[in-house]
Order: sequence, then C-alpha cells, then structure tokens
Amino acid sequence: MRVLVVEDEAALRETLKTRLAASGFTVDEAADGNEGLYAGTEYPIDLAIVDLGLPGLTGLEVIRRLRAARKTFPVLILTARDNWQDKVEGLQAGADDYVAKPFHFEEVLARVQALLRRAGGWASPLLRCGQVELDTRAQTVAVGGAPVELTTFEYRILEHLMLRAGDVISKTELTERLYDQDFERDSNVIEVLVGRLRRKLDPQEQLHPIETLRGRGYRFALPRDPAS
Ligand code: CA
Repeated sequence: MRVLVVEDEAALRETLKTRLAASGFTVDEAADGNEGLYAGTEYPIDLAIVDLGLPGLTGLEVIRRLRAARKTFPVLILTARDNWQDKVEGLQAGADDYVAKPFHFEEVLARVQALLRRAGGWASPLLRCGQVELDTRAQTVAVGGAPVELTTFEYRILEHLMLRAGDVISKTELTERLYDQDFERDSNVIEVLVGRLRRKLDPQEQLHPIETLRGRGYRFALPRDPAS
C-alpha cells in the first residue's frame, strides 16, 4: 500500500516516513501544499496523511482540490490538539479521519490501517477469504489455521490483493504500490513473487486463491467471509 505524507515539519515527516516504511508501506513525501497536491494527483496513492498547517496551499485546500479532482483515497489529517474547528473543517473538506498532534505513531498507524481496510470494504482487521486468513495488525497469514511464512514483499502483495478481494489488480498497480520510485520496476519480479505466494498458500494446488487474468492482472478469487 502506498501512502503520501504531506507535512512541512521535516523531523515529523521523516519519522512518519521511516515508521510507515518499517510497517510495510511504500511512502511518498511532500513538504508543502503544492507538492502534496501534485503527488496526490499524479502518483498512485492508496491513502494520504495531510497536515493542515502547510506553507503554500493549506492542508484544507489540498484536500478540497484532491476531492474536486475525484481522488477518492482515504485522507487522514493531522490537527492541533485543542482546535475542534480544524477537525470539523477538515472532515467537511473531505478528510476521513484525524489525529491530533502530538501523537504516538501507533495511533496514526492504527487509523491508517483502519481507513485502508474500510476503503476495501472490510470491517475487521482480520481478513478472511475461504481458508486464507490475513491479520493486518500482526501482519501474519494462515491457511486452514496453519501459519504460513511469507517474505515482506509476498505479504505486501497478498495484503493488497486481499484488501481488494474480488477486484482485478493490474501488475502495474501492484508494482507501483509496492516499490519506491527509485526501485527498478519490473513486472517479471511481480510474476515470480505471485508464483511463490501461490506455492506457499496452496502447495497442493487445490485452493487456487490467486487468479491470473491474462493481460489484465490478478484477482484474489476466494470468497470473502461475510463475518469479517
Ligand atoms: Ca505544519
């Protein structure tokens, strides 16, 4: 999942970037409102974290313009602790949730994960499709109750596919959301990783959890557990 951080305080931006990356996200950063609007409009973002007090365009204006440009990804705003007007205006501008400064990173992470889950139509942090269960908090995977060891990239691919279970995800989309800008993009790598993921999830080739749609991409094919 690819997250955009729009924050003018360099130290805070760096902390968010480092900790989000360590939690498995690909992170784009912007230091002012204009950069933030550009990145949010041009890059394949899954979620944006936007500080309201920004030089250039204000955070509110960035959110309004992103929404006017029909960008529907979730937006989490960073607000001042005791400023309720900010929160109300932010939500009215099109933000989905807020965290007040100063915050603990874990609070931001929990909200980011919850927003991404809900954007994919999931109510619980435990994603269940058929026999496959993925815990977005612990970042663990089990099939038929038995834990499956995945590498970071295998996990990221599976999480992306399962969050949007039923949707077709193109190789380009997977590549763009899994790698930083400076990483060499190669769709063959995705093919290899998906192949390994299939063998780990389904060694007997009985479940067929990941479908390949020729020329279109991949789809997590097992039905979502209606209770998740
Ligand atoms: Ca600021």
